[in-house]
Amino acid sequence: MNTKVKAVALVSGGLDSALAVAVVKRLGVDVLALHASIGYSPGFMRAEIAGEKPADLAAAEAARMSAAFGVPVRVLDFVEEYFGVLLHPRHGYGANVNPCIDCHLFMIRKAKEVMEREGAQFVFTGEVLGQRPMSQNYQALELIDRESGLEGLLVRPMSAKLLPETLAEKNGWIKRDGLLDIQGRSRRRQMELAAALGVTGYSSPAGGCMLTDENYAAKLKDWMRHRGEAPLTHEETLLFSVGRHFRLSPSVRAVVGRREAENRYIERAWRLEWLAMPVEVPGPTVLVQGPATDEDLRLGAALVARYCDAKTSPSVKVVVRRGDEERIFDIPPAPEDLVERLRI
Ligand code: SF4
Repeated sequence: MNTKVKAVALVSGGLDSALAVAVVKRLGVDVLALHASIGYSPGFMRAEIAGEKPADLAAAEAARMSAAFGVPVRVLDFVEEYFGVLLHPRHGYGANVNPCIDCHLFMIRKAKEVMEREGAQFVFTGEVLGQRPMSQNYQALELIDRESGLEGLLVRPMSAKLLPETLAEKNGWIKRDGLLDIQGRSRRRQMELAAALGVTGYSSPAGGCMLTDENYAAKLKDWMRHRGEAPLTHEETLLFSVGRHFRLSPSVRAVVGRREAENRYIERAWRLEWLAMPVEVPGPTVLVQGPATDEDLRLGAALVARYCDAKTSPSVKVVVRRGDEERIFDIPPAPEDLVERLRI
């Protein structure tokens, strides 16, 4: 009978989770790693906007992490399920629209489900005590323990010696001596440990989280204020990372592509909405989203003129289309004070 202890690792793909996996593996535990994809990694967003398929990105990420960590890695898609966490976090937001405590709780509950399905004994993460002000202080780690329903079965190998003993240690599944006592924001000990344990390939090219980005947060908050009953969609969350955004009215917004990939994305993903573009010169594609009036379409066209290659001309020819409907405007570029007033 195979009596080897089995654990589920919740991994981000970064250095701390790579080290946590290496430490637990060293204690003779069978590790299955889970990466919960919620859709806000800047690298993934850029790739999707450029036209790559989420399933291909997830498969590549699983293969990369699996090679780096030396354990099987499952990348599970929770993009839609996560909208409820993002819009209604019980423990509030961090500095921007990052609901870090609820986010950790959400992911750890998912890891708990996998643990139960797979007959594993405990869950562990790469969390480091004191590394992040909101979600990795002592109280937050305790709260996550309690509310995740994993109390005693959630191990933080990186800081375990600074935390109460877990059931995994009490039951003898892992030895406390083999766990670590790292805390704080410095990465020095992690770098030394990575060198000592031969841990490489951990840096995630898709690293970071757009929910902590000030500009992204401004666009999402504007959407929340004006959404009415509209549900959040994955396309909408991608759009917050694209272009310059302008609020034309409570129900109409314009998004100006900043580069070729963004223009192509707007034309591909938002083709059922009003799209404006210059007729005779290179320039941006502008999405006019919502129940646009004639005045909104004129504003959208004026924004095209403002950001196209002929922005110093007295007027620019702009086409505005939605399906078979088409309007042509010969319009001066939007003046700077108007642009600033409308900017989100
Ligand atoms: S930074 Fe983003 S991914 Fe990380 S815990 Fe906070 S909300 Fe979740």
